[in-house]
Amino acid sequence: MSVYNFCAGPAMLPAAVMEKAQKEFINWQNLGCSIMEVSHRSPAFLSVAERAEENLRKLMGISDEYAVLFMHGGGRGQFSAVPLNLTSASDQIGNYIVSGTWSKTAEIEAQKFCQTHACNVIQRVDGKLSTTPVSQWDLNNNAKFIHYCTNETVDGIEINEVPSFNDQLIVADMSSNILSKEIDVNQFDVIYAGAQKNIGPSGLSIVVIRKSIIGNKQTAIPCIQDYQLAYENNSMFNTPPTFSWYLAGVVFEWLLEQGGVSEVEQVNAEKARLLYDYIDNSKLYRNAISEQNRSIMNVPFQLADESLNQQFLAESEQQGLLALEGHRSVGGMRASIYNAMPLEGVKALVKFMHEFEGKVL
Ligand SMILES: *Cc1c(COP(=O)(O)O)cnc(C)c1O
Repeated sequence: MSVYNFCAGPAMLPAAVMEKAQKEFINWQNLGCSIMEVSHRSPAFLSVAERAEENLRKLMGISDEYAVLFMHGGGRGQFSAVPLNLTSASDQIGNYIVSGTWSKTAEIEAQKFCQTHACNVIQRVDGKLSTTPVSQWDLNNNAKFIHYCTNETVDGIEINEVPSFNDQLIVADMSSNILSKEIDVNQFDVIYAGAQKNIGPSGLSIVVIRKSIIGNKQTAIPCIQDYQLAYENNSMFNTPPTFSWYLAGVVFEWLLEQGGVSEVEQVNAEKARLLYDYIDNSKLYRNAISEQNRSIMNVPFQLADESLNQQFLAESEQQGLLALEGHRSVGGMRASIYNAMPLEGVKALVKFMHEFEGKVL
């Protein structure tokens, strides 16, 4: 039986990536030891590190005007790094767009380091949730930056429009949809992502930042969160998460072998279409997000009769469909269908959902 893991994060990795890592695990390229057991300053690791960055630049179309940083602390580490690195004093202001759980959490963390102007952009129209158009966002004119989350992993809300407002820096938390579709990096000043959704193992966070804005930071900034130190030391101010960096590099190679982000985007669109179409046409399941904001990575859905939730989860697990329980804050179900989830996995899920509906209704 094939097993498909719909966990929101840490999430499944491509089978080919896991097999390659397994093959290289004990003896990396005849080095006689694992890439995890060597110095981060050794030629072996430096070649892995540089290649990973090169391939990410290729995949996302990142120009020389941007630095790529491999940092510690996952997505949340960046919730504090962003205000510390983009304001030079704690009385400066950051605009925080609130579109769901993670963007709200980022705003709460930032309150420790700067003034925050929170803008709720969620509206409910005819019972469906959506975000208001960027032109209607109630922004503070004097803020240094606009922080928003391009894909709310818990709520299943994706924002496709990119904001732009005077000379304010645009900062995007792309933890759960980085590399899922083509974007224009030049529209952003900072893009960051915790690795464990669409990149690799947890702990690593990737930061893509416009070089010209590095260094205008607060003085009391922890050194491991300092973009300038990370940049000047090629992300090796201290020991980086070497295994995660290595494995991220294997994922980037896999993505290039798939034909790059444009190819993967088409598969992702097909997976999401299949699942949403099925949900919309069923009597048992529903999704409360308007079409324009539906996430192609995280698909939350509710059963019309919530007392069936436990049975749904138990039976799906028996069928090898793992981790479909929704986040504890929203309940219901959630299928995370990141790049590593093959189309067959979504087909197997839809088949199960259909059989389950036929049985209980
Ligand atoms: C998972 C996630 C985070 C938090 O990541 P951690 O590595 O657990 O800190 C932040 N933002 C988004 C959008 C996420 O999906």
